Amino acid sequence: MSKKHNFSAGPCILPQEVFEKSAAAILDFNGIGLSLLEISHRSKDFVPVMDEARAIVKRLMKLGDDYEVIYVGGGASLQFLMVPFNLMKKDNGKAAYLDTGTWAAGAIKEAKKLGTVDVVGSSKEENYSFIPKDYKVGSEYDYFHCTSNNTIYGTQMKTFPEVDTVMVCDMSSDIFSRVIDFSKFDIIYAGAQKNMGPAGVTMVVVKKSVLGKTGRDIPSYLDYSLHIAKDSMYNTPPVFPVYATLLTLQHLENNGGIEAAELRNEAKAKLLYDEIDNNPLFETFCRKEDRSLMNVSFKLTDESKKEAFDIAWKEAGINGLNGHRSLGGYRASMYNALPIESVQVLVDVMKSIN
Ligand code: PLP
Repeated sequence: MSKKHNFSAGPCILPQEVFEKSAAAILDFNGIGLSLLEISHRSKDFVPVMDEARAIVKRLMKLGDDYEVIYVGGGASLQFLMVPFNLMKKDNGKAAYLDTGTWAAGAIKEAKKLGTVDVVGSSKEENYSFIPKDYKVGSEYDYFHCTSNNTIYGTQMKTFPEVDTVMVCDMSSDIFSRVIDFSKFDIIYAGAQKNMGPAGVTMVVVKKSVLGKTGRDIPSYLDYSLHIAKDSMYNTPPVFPVYATLLTLQHLENNGGIEAAELRNEAKAKLLYDEIDNNPLFETFCRKEDRSLMNVSFKLTDESKKEAFDIAWKEAGINGLNGHRSLGGYRASMYNALPIESVQVLVDVMKSIN
């Protein structure tokens, strides 16, 4: 089978080794004569998978014992609600949010159900084409929430603010793609389906000391403390996505970790952005300084070339290049597993249009 150059925004490309190993595990897990899908999550064969899937995150992020890692269902979207349930004070709760795109706005919408939300910075009026930088977050807030990478608009926070409160970040679309001081954050969450694994599980990193301060009676499934106390086995975990996530993170660790991934991602992004900047037929939607290394959203400057471009990239074996329905144009998502050779194929196609 010849595989396509997969620029999908998520679910998306994963390392080939992950597909091969997880296919084998579905047929016969570790040679035990049973599929991964038909054994108990509490069996001696699966418990080490969950334990290692939690431990490897802390190793890759260089985090200590003051942090816990859990895997839960509900997508990153459920975290939009779990975060305020666990951090927003029951009485006069107030949080600061940065509004940088559709997903950030989704997080704001849910938080408003539990308390006051101050949007300390927003680029909504300019179609989310930049990352606001001119804001301050003081200790009057229960927490600050930001989105590190805006999957749809192709913008990325290059630096993170110093805030005087608990710091929360949705890293769904650039998790493990670049070197970050993860210890700056108290809660990090990410849906698995981009740089980690298949859809169906969300990883949450929690600094334990920030929990238990809201005065709320948190519904059980939404309570981080309960998931932590149960070693991320409060209910039946999505075993296959957790296993495939472990395989992806082991692949990352065995290939130079986040440091090496960052270099590869920078090289891919440079190749594509250089072409966009040098080819008068293409332009990005966003400001140059806020361009994402993961999701490159761009458009044609001459719509009469659309048909020719669309035929050419499809003929070149490229998949998933259409832009998000809310923005239009094109989006090249270049997650960790996408090889630079695929980016070169896209650049060659762009050069061929005239
Ligand atoms: N946050 C970001 C940055 C995303 O890109 C997405 C989905 O693409 C989400 C949240 C929502 O994730 P889920 O579909 O897992 O709920």
